[in-house]
Amino acid sequence: MTGAARGIGAATARRLARDGFAVAVLDLDESACASVVDAITAAGGRALAVGADVASEADVAAAFERVATDLGAPTVLVNNAGITRDNLLFKMSVDDWDAVMSVHLRGAFLMSRAAQQHMVSAKWGRIVNLSSTSALGNRGQVNYAAAKAGMQGFTKTLAIELGPFGVTANAIAPGFIATDMTAATAERMGVSFEDFMTHAAAATAVRRVGVPDDIAGTVSFLVSDDASFISGQVIYVAGGPTD
Ligand code: NAP
Repeated sequence: MTGAARGIGAATARRLARDGFAVAVLDLDESACASVVDAITAAGGRALAVGADVASEADVAAAFERVATDLGAPTVLVNNAGITRDNLLFKMSVDDWDAVMSVHLRGAFLMSRAAQQHMVSAKWGRIVNLSSTSALGNRGQVNYAAAKAGMQGFTKTLAIELGPFGVTANAIAPGFIATDMTAATAERMGVSFEDFMTHAAAATAVRRVGVPDDIAGTVSFLVSDDASFISGQVIYVAGGPTD
């Protein structure tokens, strides 16, 4: 589970542990994973804190070695680590473009490539990738929208290539989820997080914003045996239709 120290990743790590999985709580800073690992352990589950940058080939290789040794062969992968570097196209720097591509796309590629060998050996596996409603286009997010649309093509291709080996791959495209990421967006836009959420809720069919557990529940289903005939799909978890 990448990007698991907080937000959607933390909620999903806790949920997968409740479902009975031993969970590698992977994030940039290993010490930041401690509270999630402690919560899982206190509830009777198994978890391991792993510090790694998903965009680093060496970090990913080392992380998989540790996880395989300490928890067993990883057969479920959730590519959730993400960043935003928002700006309008004419003001966007090359660094901000590259940073977003790197974490989302290079990160998901490196993690999936490392995971697939364990999954193919086990003849069973589940990959869930975090896309976003921003994949459909979002002002100020040309880098993030491109990366999240890229995650959808990446997911469909994984589904085609790995399906014969018992591995499914699906993407979840969340709408507005209340996390540090959306709080940071509110701050950048100069509005309070409360006002930002009220506005987002009013624009959502079910009249509320999402919470990390909305995504955790969807991941839980997609990695379950009930979802074994679902692959290459993009599930919009956004409180309404999105386009
Ligand atoms: P978040 O609260 O900002 O958490 C993201 C986590 O990813 C952080 O712990 C971050 O670590 C970690 N991370 C960043 N770069 C990394 C790297 N190179 N290697 C390993 N970990 C890294 O974000 P969130 O809102 O939970 O979002 C989770 C995912 O859902 C992201 O892919 C996001 O794009 C997607 N999503 C979110 C929303 C939303 O409304 N919140 C909507 C659609 C899609 P640091 O804290 O050290 O930076």
